[in-house]
Amino acid sequence: MARKYDYDLYVIGAGSGGVRASRIAAQLGARVAVAESTHLGGTCVNVGCVPKKLFVYGSHFAEDFDDAAAYGWRAAPPSFDWPTLRDNKTTEIKRLNGVYRNLLTAAGVDIHEGQARLGDPHRIEINGQSHTAERVLVATGSRPWMPEFPGAEHVICSDEAFYLPRFPRRVLVVGGGYIAVEFAGIFAGLGAESRLAYRGPLFLRGFDDGVREFVAEQLAEKGVALQFNTKVVKIELDGDERLVTLSDGSRLRTDLVMFATGRRPNVEGLGLAECGVALGSNGAVLVDEEYRSSVPHILAIGDVIDRVQLTPVAIEEAMCVAYGLFGNGEPRSLNYENIATAVFCQPNIGTVGLTEAEARQRFERIEVYESAFRPMKHTLTGRAERTFMKLIVDADSDRVIGTHMVGPEAGEIIQGMAVAVTAGATKRQFDATVGIHPTAAEEFVTMREARTCA
Ligand code: FAD
Ligand code: NDP
Repeated sequence: MARKYDYDLYVIGAGSGGVRASRIAAQLGARVAVAESTHLGGTCVNVGCVPKKLFVYGSHFAEDFDDAAAYGWRAAPPSFDWPTLRDNKTTEIKRLNGVYRNLLTAAGVDIHEGQARLGDPHRIEINGQSHTAERVLVATGSRPWMPEFPGAEHVICSDEAFYLPRFPRRVLVVGGGYIAVEFAGIFAGLGAESRLAYRGPLFLRGFDDGVREFVAEQLAEKGVALQFNTKVVKIELDGDERLVTLSDGSRLRTDLVMFATGRRPNVEGLGLAECGVALGSNGAVLVDEEYRSSVPHILAIGDVIDRVQLTPVAIEEAMCVAYGLFGNGEPRSLNYENIATAVFCQPNIGTVGLTEAEARQRFERIEVYESAFRPMKHTLTGRAERTFMKLIVDADSDRVIGTHMVGPEAGEIIQGMAVAVTAGATKRQFDATVGIHPTAAEEFVTMREARTCA
């Protein structure tokens, strides 16, 4: 019998969400194609999580070389070669692009390389060809956004930071979210004079206030110059230098300005509105709890729906869509509460659950346990870096409703905590857990003195 459509599912965008949705849908028996306009793997693999984390590793060596001396190691003064890090990273990314291609091909997914758009609600146009699909999944991600001001053409965004022809001596990073604090630390660690300018009184809005203040102290201690309540008004070129005018009227010279002021959904030129798909004010595709847009056979996941812009969230949303459509009665759903997250500034932030401010709003009585200490490693090195840990407990049920950490490997440690918080563990159960000694993480099961807050 002739099929009505070429495909059961056509996915636009082969990033974190699109690759997973395509692969699982195909494994569940659907006929699937995926379109990709740049590189397989999307933002995370090419210009996001993966190259960023490699740069974070790279940038930490400066301290490691220094610290080694206190442990008896003598070595020639180290030097840093930017092209080696940049190009080794690119080689690894190319390898990952190949891994993604193999995963899709092995699952039987057709890969269409090019810019796709919807011609009509069931027809996808790409490379001068037209394909029909019963359902379409928009997984086109997001792209950097920055405000307009005179001289904006002289700045870069995170995409370009991964491919800089030369490593700068001085850098100004603008913004106060994940990308700004991660890159301010990367640039500083790799040897640049690094400055971060943020428009508000304290960066990392949305994180626990104790964490925000602690990170500000730690970054400053590591030599990142922090300038809050500051906006960039104008940038002029003076030879190779950027002459930056700030909102307080002061001016500074730098070699590179990087804006990290958020990302916007990638919907331009997709033809969504023409097909009747409702979009939010910033372009996000509006979806229901099953990721259906206002045109129910057109679905969307990941950054393009602008809920939580994280790779594991895009992947889980993809699983929900693939199983929801083709899983023969095995629907999945994603609980957006208690999504653990890490910011790979130095030291890292790891967090899961409520901030203290959120907990105060939602619960009548909470208990807060906090600890700040020098990591054992630095008892010999004398480095002033400190670690911060915080547990927030609902006093009535004794449930742990928030855990926060700033310290080495906080992301690794909080991943484990996330299991406990998701499972609804109580403070009593934390206390009954035997610690692993000597670790920083054991502090989470040994904090006893609460601050009670009504
Ligand atoms: P994407 O991965 O962006 O994929 C979308 C794909 O669609 C892209 O490949 C794009 O080329 C393609 N596309 C767009 N339009 C079309 C079209 N018309 N036709 C064909 N293809 C199209 N998240 C974390 O969890 N941890 C981290 O450490 C982390 N670090 C990050 C660091 C940086 C610098 C950035 C920018 C992001 C980081 N993120 C991190 C966020 C994470 O990368 C995103 O949340 C995730 O990639 C979103 O996945 P997605 O599938 O929605 O979109
Ligand atoms: P964020 O949304 O995290 O931060 C944007 C920052 O830019 C905020 O500090 C915001 O300030 C500021 N800002 C917004 N508009 C302006 C403006 N007009 N002028 C000056 N400043 C402005 O975005 P990022 O770009 O840092 O990252 C995008 C997303 O990618 C993150 O939210 C995160 O979901 C994901 N990501 C995840 C990572 C991880 O998991 N480790 C790493 C990197 C990215 P204000 O707070 O005042 O609004």
